[in-house]
Amino acid sequence: MDCLFCRIANGDLAANMLYEDEQVIAFHDIAPQAPVHFLVIPRKHIATLHDLSEEDDKLLAGHILFTAQRLAEQLGCEEGFRVVMNCNDLGGQTVYHIHMHVLGQRRLHWPPG
Ligand code: AMP
Ligand code: ZN
Repeated sequence: MDCLFCRIANGDLAANMLYEDEQVIAFHDIAPQAPVHFLVIPRKHIATLHDLSEEDDKLLAGHILFTAQRLAEQLGCEEGFRVVMNCNDLGGQTVYHIHMHVLGQRRLHWPPG
């Protein structure tokens, strides 16, 4: 299996890293859509949100969200920010290893495109 984000998590591919621990890593998006745009991903390969299992529920899923919140605050997004997880082609997913987008430092509109 050749997964771009597994390669980043394993250190085989460089990324502009923000944070790492045993469960998750966070790095700046290569094509930022806002002044702050980073991704939080689990080290564990989970292809889409449909593949999230019960064992991932409380610890991993919560830790991804908490990491997003803490880093958003560290990057000056106290006034507001957005988290997004795209699921499958119809949801706009292009990399099939789940990731939480965190966007901030500009006004974000609703509904999204
Ligand atoms: P999605 O469309 O939700 O699957 O988001 C995938 C995101 O990964 C996009 O915002 C890309 O810009 C980003 N991306 C792709 N390759 C890299 C990379 N090597 N380093 C950082 N971000 C990447
Ligand atoms: Zn992967």
